[in-house]
Amino acid sequence: MKNLQKYEPVIGLEIHAQLSTKSKIFCNSATEFGKEHNSQICPVCTGYPGVLPVLNKKVVEYAILTGLALNCEIAKFSKFDRKHYFYPDLPKNIQISQYDLPVCKNGHITIKGRKIRINRIHMEEDAGKLVHAGAAGLAGSAYSLVDYNRTGTPLLEIVSEADITSPEEARIYTEELRNTVRYLGVCDGNLEEGSLRCDANVSVRPIGREKLGTKVEIKNLNSFRALQKALEYEIARQTDELENGNAIIQETRLWKDDESITISMRTKEEAHDYRYFPEPDLVPLEIDAEWVHRLREQMPELPQEKRARYMEKVGLCEADANTIADSADTALFFDRVISLTLNPRAAANWLMGDITAYIKDKKISINDTKLTPESLAGMIEMIERGKISNAIAKKIIVPLMETGDSPEKTVEEKGLLVISDEGQILDIVKKVIADSPGEVEKYKAGKTQVIGFFVGRVMKETRGKADPGLVNRLLQQELG
Ligand SMILES: [Zn+2]
Repeated sequence: MKNLQKYEPVIGLEIHAQLSTKSKIFCNSATEFGKEHNSQICPVCTGYPGVLPVLNKKVVEYAILTGLALNCEIAKFSKFDRKHYFYPDLPKNIQISQYDLPVCKNGHITIKGRKIRINRIHMEEDAGKLVHAGAAGLAGSAYSLVDYNRTGTPLLEIVSEADITSPEEARIYTEELRNTVRYLGVCDGNLEEGSLRCDANVSVRPIGREKLGTKVEIKNLNSFRALQKALEYEIARQTDELENGNAIIQETRLWKDDESITISMRTKEEAHDYRYFPEPDLVPLEIDAEWVHRLREQMPELPQEKRARYMEKVGLCEADANTIADSADTALFFDRVISLTLNPRAAANWLMGDITAYIKDKKISINDTKLTPESLAGMIEMIERGKISNAIAKKIIVPLMETGDSPEKTVEEKGLLVISDEGQILDIVKKVIADSPGEVEKYKAGKTQVIGFFVGRVMKETRGKADPGLVNRLLQQELG
């Protein structure tokens, strides 16, 4: 791999985002995930003869919102086309998609100051799911079952130009795209569950040469890690082939996550001719400027704007603003907390510290915990009022996420309320002073920072429950 620096990769991404509309794109069957097989189907999405598709307006609205967020031109005139292909799980034997007149085109995403152009965004319907069952033999499973629940679920296909120059940039582009669709509320953005699906095109060329190398398409990239790893592997493989004097074959390759390799799936000779033609059952789509204008007005705050606000208005540093804005769930939670507290800095610290550690460990989102913005804001207020110490707060944050109880109730139940009984703390203060004559000497000699040592001792004696303000005052008085 030592010749990697002689070559540069050229990467383009095609991302399918499954839209979170309540009903399908051309019928009113529900789209809810995880329902009984074939319970959300009708004659339209199962391709009965003579039925007619009716376009779901919400799908167009979501497409326009996504297009606006990604700086695209919204087409005034757009149409649907039939893509001919036999999908066992799309029983019409055609897929309704968009070919030459997509709903959005010529957009871009800016990441780290670089513009990655977006060629187009188009709407289409998803296929269903095959469930391979029975005893596995040499030729695979004994039989396959088909679940049409997903058939006809709306998708947006977002196609970038080949502007991406590294596997890391590909990952950041995809993360930014995911954040954007999540902030818009048009897609839940979950790669692992397939609601965001990513195919990558990659070629390499000698640095300085303008002509593009032969590109390879990689499929089955169902995590950000897989996307980056597969591209790294493929760039190294293609570089090796070229260095050894071999040609790159134009083909589709599959990422094998368990082995961390790509394998050939089909070559160009097997590529399909989809014979697109205009869908005769749907009228062309005319989008009026007034509708686009209304949607632009409704646009929620997007990741870039959120980062800027967190830095300018909330006073977070750039790294912290990025950390919070990078997860739409965390950012929306943070926005609710800061509307309830005067200490957004503390809210940010809790979110980035103990809370993120917990949800990362459990591989969940903050929304999957029982923590509410009210209880986090309440806990911060208890710290500020001296009702609990920071150490106690660290002890209750996980229970707050697990039980959904209020911080007041949790503190009381666990017997963690601060001791603010002056007599009780004074006894402990006197004891720790008597126990450490050496430290007292230092303090009296002017090394006043040893007060921290005494505070620590008192906290240890009270298991973190002493009111810190009171401890400080009594220590100064007694050491005085
Ligand atoms: Zn249906």
